[in-house]
Amino acid sequence: MQKIGQELIQHGIKPSLIRIKVYDYLKKDKDHPDAEKIFTALRKEIPTLSLTSVYNALKVLTKNKLIREIMIEEDEIRYDGFIEQHAHFKCIKCKKIFDVNLKYKNYLKFDELKKAKILDEHIYFIGICENCLNKEIVEHDRKNKR
Ligand SMILES: [Zn+2]
Ligand SMILES: [Zn+2]
Repeated sequence: MQKIGQELIQHGIKPSLIRIKVYDYLKKDKDHPDAEKIFTALRKEIPTLSLTSVYNALKVLTKNKLIREIMIEEDEIRYDGFIEQHAHFKCIKCKKIFDVNLKYKNYLKFDELKKAKILDEHIYFIGICENCLNKEIVEHDRKNKR
């Protein structure tokens, strides 16, 4: 906990309990949760917590670049405690967002961007994850056997 508080201070953020808890939670939950999920999880520890205070903490952490907002679909913001460059894959079936390693990034040279300075990038894919695809195949087989 203390280490997290230090990290917030280094990024110019006053380390309130809620900010520390939200940041700590995002470091641990690799499923890219939304604010509601963070709120539900933290309320068990902090019964007085409000959803607004979670949103406020997320806003401050995002602004100071400790976390990232992921917006794949317009009506949903998910949060990421891992800020190194990486892409995302969202499964339309289970709604999970997976990290995608950009180890081939150096080969991605876009002609249109050669002379531009890139400040930020958001790369994402939408589809059906391996797990859900396998489930579909099992369902399909079961139906055919009847
Ligand atoms: Zn899935
Ligand atoms: Zn991510």
